[in-house]
Amino acid sequence: MRIHVLGSLAGIEPMPDRHHTSLVCECGGKLHFFDAGEACGRTAHLMGLDLLKIRSITISHTHMDHVGGLGNLLWYIRKLTKLGKGLPVDGKIDLYVPELACWEGILTMLRHTEGGFVCNFAIEAHPVADGLLYDEGLRVTASHTCHLGIPADGAWRAFGYRMEGEGKSAVFSGDIGDYTDLDPLIGDGCDLLLVETGHMSIDGVYEYTRDKRIGKVAFIHNGREILNFPGESEAKVARLFRDKGIISRDAMTIEI
Ligand SMILES: [Zn+2]
Repeated sequence: MRIHVLGSLAGIEPMPDRHHTSLVCECGGKLHFFDAGEACGRTAHLMGLDLLKIRSITISHTHMDHVGGLGNLLWYIRKLTKLGKGLPVDGKIDLYVPELACWEGILTMLRHTEGGFVCNFAIEAHPVADGLLYDEGLRVTASHTCHLGIPADGAWRAFGYRMEGEGKSAVFSGDIGDYTDLDPLIGDGCDLLLVETGHMSIDGVYEYTRDKRIGKVAFIHNGREILNFPGESEAKVARLFRDKGIISRDAMTIEI
């Protein structure tokens, strides 16, 4: 299993060489996107990933730093099909999104772009709830986080995800309200934890993970601590996590 970091930045103003959050899990020859921040389609293509290997897109929550590149990603995929490059594997893209109204808005925009965005592949949108999302080569389970507070109507709108495939496991935190949001996702352990540091700290992640069976910890959705103090942050990660800690950057691939 390989994780490609397309965007490593938290939801802040533009930064050189970093874009808002997006990851790709490459498993069984297919690409599964997790979040679709700005420019994710562009970065994936320029990294050499074949966008037509896409099978699914799963969104943690519908803030702009997690969905800002979704319309553009799908536009690029349609463009490649129009150039005769083929079709998405299985002829459809499954989209898992906590608030379907956000997707409906993006789809309305797309319908008013070139050719009415008529595609020769399907896009099937699905809501997200706790539990199994899909199990077809890659198995993905969702668990809500408290990033957006506790919903009065009981419908959670922010999630983290656990991916299992090719005998490996990875946890994507999404945005979290507290470290304990990760407990159900990590369970007995995982090979890779992709944890956001827009709201969390390197020290806090170390304290939370130190007694857990986690192979590698990669910092994603990087915020002020890592951006303002890059040298100090690298040194701290090396000291605390030794060779198990990674401060991710755009276009980085992590093999597990
Ligand atoms: Zn965010």
